[in-house]
Amino acid sequence: MADDKGLTPRSEDFATWYNEVVLRAELADYSPVRGSMVIRPYGYGLWENMQRALDDMFKETGHQNAYFPLFIPLSFISREAQHVEGFAKEMALVTHTRLIAGADGGLVPDPASELEEPLVVRPTSETIIYDAFSKWVQRYRDLPLLINQWANIVRWEMRTRLFLRTAEFLWQEGHTAHATPEEAEEEAVRMLGVYRTFMEEWMAMPVITGRKSPSETFPGADHTYACEALMQDNRALQAGTTHNLGQNFSRQFDFTFQSESGGEEYAWSTSWGVSTRLVGGLVMTHGDDAGIVLPPKLAPYQVVVVPIFRTDEERAAVLGKADQVMSALRDAGVRVELDGRETLSPGAKFYEWERKGVPLRVEIGPKDVAKEQLVVVRRVVAEGQDRKAFLPEAEALASVPGILDDVQDRMFEAADRRRRTNTHRLDDYEAFRELMEGQGGFVYAGWCGSEACEEKVQEDTKATIRVLPGEEHRSPTPPDRCLVCGGAAQAEAVWARAY
Ligand SMILES: [Zn+2]
Repeated sequence: MADDKGLTPRSEDFATWYNEVVLRAELADYSPVRGSMVIRPYGYGLWENMQRALDDMFKETGHQNAYFPLFIPLSFISREAQHVEGFAKEMALVTHTRLIAGADGGLVPDPASELEEPLVVRPTSETIIYDAFSKWVQRYRDLPLLINQWANIVRWEMRTRLFLRTAEFLWQEGHTAHATPEEAEEEAVRMLGVYRTFMEEWMAMPVITGRKSPSETFPGADHTYACEALMQDNRALQAGTTHNLGQNFSRQFDFTFQSESGGEEYAWSTSWGVSTRLVGGLVMTHGDDAGIVLPPKLAPYQVVVVPIFRTDEERAAVLGKADQVMSALRDAGVRVELDGRETLSPGAKFYEWERKGVPLRVEIGPKDVAKEQLVVVRRVVAEGQDRKAFLPEAEALASVPGILDDVQDRMFEAADRRRRTNTHRLDDYEAFRELMEGQGGFVYAGWCGSEACEEKVQEDTKATIRVLPGEEHRSPTPPDRCLVCGGAAQAEAVWARAY
C-alpha cells in the first residue's frame, strides 16, 4: 500500500476500506501474534482522549478507579454456571510457571512447574472483583460501592479485525454493589445514559439504547442494556453495555451485608464496559474515501499548521508566523500541531492529515504573511459551507474554537441523518428479508418474545435483535404483531446485522 495510492472506496468494499483507512491513518498495525494488534501512537492518543472524557464522567457520577489482578483462579470463573458457559470457549489459561530446555534445544514448559489450579487471563473481572467486595463490605453503610477499572482483557480469538475483534483489547469495566435491587437497576440505567452522552456528544455517534433480548444478555446478568450505533455499511455496532447482575455473583462469592433491619442479605450488583472497539466505531461512523474523520472533541490534533515556503527568506517569515499562530491557538485551548517536516511537500502533508482526519488545517505561505491572513481548511463541510476560507489573521485565530464546535455539531447531525434515513419500521417479513439481504439498516418491528423467531431471523438474514428500545427510542406507533410468526407482539425490537 504505497502512500500515493488512493483508498478502496467505501461503496466498493467497506471491509477493505476499513482496514486500509485504519492502517494508513496509523491508528493500529497487525502484530506477529494472530488475533492481536498494535495500537500506534496516533490511535492511542485518540483512545486516551476517549478515556479522559469517560473517566471524568465516571468520577462525576461517584465512581473511583481501582485495579484487580490479570490472573483469575479457574475455580472463580467456574462458580457462576452461565458465566462459565458464556466464556468457556474463549479463555486463555496459564498452566505452567517455568520453562526448561527441551529435547530439540528449544524451551518447553517444565512439567514440575505445572500449577495445581490453572489461572485464567481475565475475560472480564466480575468474579475476582466480587470476591474482593465480599471482604470489604460488612454493613449496609458500606454500600454502594462504586468502582471502575481500566484494563486489558483477553477473549481468545484467531481472526483479527483491527479494533473490532481482537483476542486482547483495552477497556474499562465498572463494578458496583448496592443494598437494594432498585439502586442496582438505577445504576445500570444511569451508566447507559453516561455512555450514550459520551457517544453522542464526544464521538458525534448517535445510538439507540435499550434492553437486550435474553439470548443476547451477558452471561450471568439478570438483564443487559446496550448502546447500538449504525455504521456506514448499515451494520450495527454494539458500542457499550451495562448489566444488572442481580444477586447472581453475590450468591456465588458469598458477598453479603448486614441490612438496616439487622438481617444478612446478598448485595445487588452491576457491571458496565466500553472498549477500544469504540475507535472502530468512530472510524466506521465518520470516515470517508479520503481517510478517517475525527470529531474535534476527541481528535489528538484539532488543528494542524502547514507552513509553505521556497526560499530561506520565506522560510524565516513563514515559520515565525507559524510560531505565533501556534501559541495563540494553544492559549485558546486548541490542540494544535505544526508540521514542519521539510522532507515532504505541502501537498503530501495535506493528503496525510486528511487521511488522519484532523478537523482543521491552517496553511501559511509568504503571501499570507504579507497580507496578514490565514488559510483555514475544513476536513469535512456541511451543505452550503466552504471548505477553504481566507481570513484576516486575527479573525481566523478568534474563529477556530467556534469552527471546531460547529464541525462537532455538524458531524453529529450528518451521522444522525444517515441513521434516520437507514432506519425502517416494517411489519412484512418478506420486505424485511429483502431489506436485510440488500441495503441493511435498523428495522423496528414487533417480536413475540420467542427465541424460535429470533433464530429464524438469524438463519434467514443473519440479523439479530440489537435492542428492545427504551422509551425515548420507540416508534410513535409500536407494532402489535410479531414480524416473524404474526403472533401478538410482546415488545418492539430493533433488528440489524451486526459486527
Ligand atoms: Zn414470533
